[in-house]
Amino acid sequence: MLAVPAALMNTDIIFLDVGEHSPAKQVVLPKSPLKAHVNGAFSDPAKIRELAEKVDVLTVEIEHVNADVLEKIQPSLALGVHPAPSTIRIIQDKFSQKQHLQGRGLPVAPFVQIESTIDSINHASQRLGLPLMIKSRTLAYDGRGNYVVRSLAQASEALVALKNKPLYCEKWVPFVKEIAVMVVRSTNGEVRSYPAVETVHKDNVCHLVFAPLRSKGPVVAERARKVAEAAISTFEGAGIFGVEMFLLADGSIYLNEIAPRPHNSGHYTIEACETSQFENHLRAILGLPLGSTALKVPSAAMLNIVGFSDSIVDIRNFSEFALTVPGATTHLYGKGESRKGRKMGHVTVVANSDAELHERLRPLLEKVPGSNP
Ligand code: ATP
Ligand code: MG
Ligand code: MG
Repeated sequence: MLAVPAALMNTDIIFLDVGEHSPAKQVVLPKSPLKAHVNGAFSDPAKIRELAEKVDVLTVEIEHVNADVLEKIQPSLALGVHPAPSTIRIIQDKFSQKQHLQGRGLPVAPFVQIESTIDSINHASQRLGLPLMIKSRTLAYDGRGNYVVRSLAQASEALVALKNKPLYCEKWVPFVKEIAVMVVRSTNGEVRSYPAVETVHKDNVCHLVFAPLRSKGPVVAERARKVAEAAISTFEGAGIFGVEMFLLADGSIYLNEIAPRPHNSGHYTIEACETSQFENHLRAILGLPLGSTALKVPSAAMLNIVGFSDSIVDIRNFSEFALTVPGATTHLYGKGESRKGRKMGHVTVVANSDAELHERLRPLLEKVPGSNP
């Protein structure tokens, strides 16, 4: 998705990823042997250096990268590494991310560090109550790395499920909605937020995003944008950031976590906003003027196409059906194999009103096993 606006801006883009035909590499072909994509792990120092030698600016689409190597190579790049390796390092460890945010007066649920012992979980539950959210500090995604302990009898199974990972605990947040805001930060520290959206998760995976956020008045959405902007102002380096938040019944907001990169909750911006999150990310890291983050349609939704099974045929059938829905745009990521729960693509639906949006979305949701149209 970054490759498309890069092509429109006549900007060469080179990817480092394991597969020779991984999704991004299918979009842009190497211009010459010198500009060829790099095959390897994004945590491999030698591969990161190989990529760095070919480019003026280096960025990430995942936070689970080698921040130490990025820091070392930063001075050798004409336009540096964005966001700053120090930002990636703080964010990739959820515990240090929470400490960073709390230390700057931003609203986060109470949390404590724990050891991987039943005693330590007991102790945390005395401080934070039950249910207790145990989280892996690092390498988490799609809720893998989280364990909800509802009674202390579950402490040992939590330790088995999260074994060999550094852990911390968060107080359970009884949210009424999950909200997200994309924020873009320029090289000189200007921040611009996109509209607040509602994110709906199914089995810990983002299922739907609704833009803009539906609420009684504009106050909650404005509050969410302010919190998100304040959070991103505390980090260094340029680029787009996804800010996940919880909305409580009294209208207050807690930050959940920050992604230092384009984010699933911002995919709707491709069709629904004046500048997509991907284009604004490129503009930010290249030191170009940022684009407008305003919605250009009254109502939009994004539906993730998540693998129903091992069959890629199901995905093809679904996306072919989506082509019949007015206002719908299908994105397929070109992943070789489908697996139950794997993100295979998404559909964005735009409409002139919320009523029309729901009318357009309903037939799509009816085709998704286990969803509630
Ligand atoms: P992602 O795929 O967004 O990176 P992740 O694996 O990093 O997910 P989190 O975002 O930390 O995981 O948590 C996943 C989901 O679990 C959240 O979207 C929310 O629904 C729920 N959750 C997380 N923390 C809490 C909490 N403290 N209280 C209640 N629910 C929570
Ligand atoms: Mg996460
Ligand atoms: Mg999350």
